[in-house]
Amino acid sequence: SDAGSQKERVVTEQEWLQKWEMGNIGFHKEQRHPLLQKYLDVLLNGRSGLRIFFPLCGKAVEMKWLADLGHSVVGVEFSEQALKDFFSEHSLPYFEEPVPEISGGKMFQSTSGNISLYCCSIYDLSSSIVGKFDGVWDRGALVAVNPSDRQRYASLMINLMEKNSSYLLVTVSYDPNKHKGPPFYVPESEIKSLFG
Ligand code: SAH
Repeated sequence: SDAGSQKERVVTEQEWLQKWEMGNIGFHKEQRHPLLQKYLDVLLNGRSGLRIFFPLCGKAVEMKWLADLGHSVVGVEFSEQALKDFFSEHSLPYFEEPVPEISGGKMFQSTSGNISLYCCSIYDLSSSIVGKFDGVWDRGALVAVNPSDRQRYASLMINLMEKNSSYLLVTVSYDPNKHKGPPFYVPESEIKSLFG
């Protein structure tokens, strides 16, 4: 159960942007993820009006769903196209503003104020920019991170979590020697060592 040849693989920002440009986004699903529906109660843990973080958000439809349930959603994604598509596909009016702490960074926010999507690399974020979160929905995020960046990603996520927050993580179980991904293979032992 080691990640074998995947360890050295890197998907660059340019490659991700190209996928969005070419419409090569098989990872995007129009239906809400069944595991989020199944485990929503675990994420909420009886609480309402949470701040929920979507790392590497793409145009995930679950962001609209959780916002409609009364939560405040923050996402990060380096494709501007993905973020604009999200708002237009849900007919949500939004505005755009620069993020002074991040060079070239922008934030797209629904005019109702409950969905804020940062257009930058996740590694540009910190709790002083986005605050801390009560919940995290990590689907297609840790498994999309380059294996060499996993430690950095996990430390950042831990830093962005409030004390009592819940983190729902979706990974994919397969034989990494037979498939090169994506998504990357993240063995359970590594999840334990990353997040404790
Ligand atoms: N979570 C989404 C998208 C998964 S695909 C979903 O469930 O549909 C991973 C996304 O992360 C891609 O849209 C890619 O452009 C984005 N991405 C990859 N690395 C990133 C990084 N370092 N910072 C911000 N976005 C990134």
